[in-house]
Amino acid sequence: MRKYDAAVIGGCAAGMAVAINAKRLNPKLNIVIIEKLPRVGKKILATGNGRCNLTNISATASDYKNSAFVAEAFEKYPPEKVVGFFESMGLLTYADSEGRIYPRSNMAASVLDTLRCELEGLGIDVICDMPVTQIKKQNGGFEINGEIFSRKIIIATGGKASPSQGSDGSGYALAKQLGHTVTKLYPSLVPLTVKENVKPLKGVRARNVELTLKSDRVIRKTKGELLFTDSGISGIAAMELASATEELLGVVKSRAFTSVDFVPDMSMAELVDYLLKVKNIKGYCSVDMLFSGVLPKAIGIEICKALSLYKQEKRISQFSKRELVALAEKAKNYELEITGTKGFSNAQVTSGGIPVKEIEPQTMESKICKGLFFAGEIIDVDAPCGGYNLQWAFASGLLAGENI
Ligand SMILES: Cc1cc2nc3c(=O)[nH]c(=O)nc-3n(C[C@H](O)[C@H](O)[C@H](O)COP(=O)(O)OP(=O)(O)OC[C@H]3O[C@@H](n4cnc5c(N)ncnc54)[C@H](O)[C@@H]3O)c2cc1C
Repeated sequence: MRKYDAAVIGGCAAGMAVAINAKRLNPKLNIVIIEKLPRVGKKILATGNGRCNLTNISATASDYKNSAFVAEAFEKYPPEKVVGFFESMGLLTYADSEGRIYPRSNMAASVLDTLRCELEGLGIDVICDMPVTQIKKQNGGFEINGEIFSRKIIIATGGKASPSQGSDGSGYALAKQLGHTVTKLYPSLVPLTVKENVKPLKGVRARNVELTLKSDRVIRKTKGELLFTDSGISGIAAMELASATEELLGVVKSRAFTSVDFVPDMSMAELVDYLLKVKNIKGYCSVDMLFSGVLPKAIGIEICKALSLYKQEKRISQFSKRELVALAEKAKNYELEITGTKGFSNAQVTSGGIPVKEIEPQTMESKICKGLFFAGEIIDVDAPCGGYNLQWAFASGLLAGENI
């Protein structure tokens, strides 16, 4: 049986950060990463549309679920420390206008290559193609799959989101074998399906919209990009409503609606004034052009159709003031009924996981099983789009690494 001081289960963002920090701080440690896929870090390549938005410079603990728990990891490893961690391995980064940090090469592969080189340079063993299915606590350590013995163990297997990239939820079963529980799990940051036929808008994007998720009351508001798909809505603003929608539909058993404000930066009065101005300056134009100065044309057409005010031959000058007011109202409150989400297979993140009350926030060590640590998405911590989830994976990984 092969013997190690520390075995990290799961070789992606969190797992690699654990191993690197532990080995840097204590070069004598004999560390192994055990990864079920043929190579480490597959998910990193898919992040940030292939560019890897690796952290967000303005992220704070309050941006996360279970923020008090997250605060301890952020105290030691805030975003600038994560940027510094990559700089220390030779990877330079830049921030966009919203604080999202990307590699200067704009390629996720640079992030993964940097981590892989560091593992190699530090002499960390990596075993791939080995799904861990069993961990037994014995002889003052842990026996893994009956093949490897390690004094300490770190579960960094991610959640259930995007299982084609390795994170199939098997880590939860491993944690349960060692006495842990798992909270209810929801797919998060995933496209939504809607009841209405949105096919005519498929592929159309609207920037800077505001979405309000409602049942009999307002549940959550988001702002950002909205993208129509053939069965619903995607884009950051829609995806950020996913976990709350799952809870509403699956647990509260209530209907869920989203109201889209396509022009949140204009008040109702300003939008009406604008439409009256459009009527004055281009009244001779077809109805298709009514909203085209502020929105993609296809959305303007659907707004008119929703009020049965669309006729192709109609001219803008033919709209009455009352109709323009109704159209402005529709543009600021375009309601869609949400029927569900596209599920874990299309989700970027899992909401839920190992309850934070079962983990020491200062060390990431289990409160239930000594010598067991957790890092990354397997813990019940998640956040919006924008580099926040990788920031958590790296910060919690660096903290766990420091403490093994
Ligand atoms: C398409 C997509 C885009 C994203 N873009 C961004 C972004 O730009 N910025 C951002 O902050 N976040 C992004 N995320 C979220 C982010 O990638 C995750 O939150 C982060 O990767 C979690 O890191 P982790 O190491 O905890 O888990 P994971 O990255 O899921 O890694 C877990 C690893 O464990 C392995 N594993 C699982 N079970 C076992 C087992 N039983 N035995 C051995 N190995 C196992 C898996 O194969 C995998 O390699 C994105 C996610 C997706 C799916």
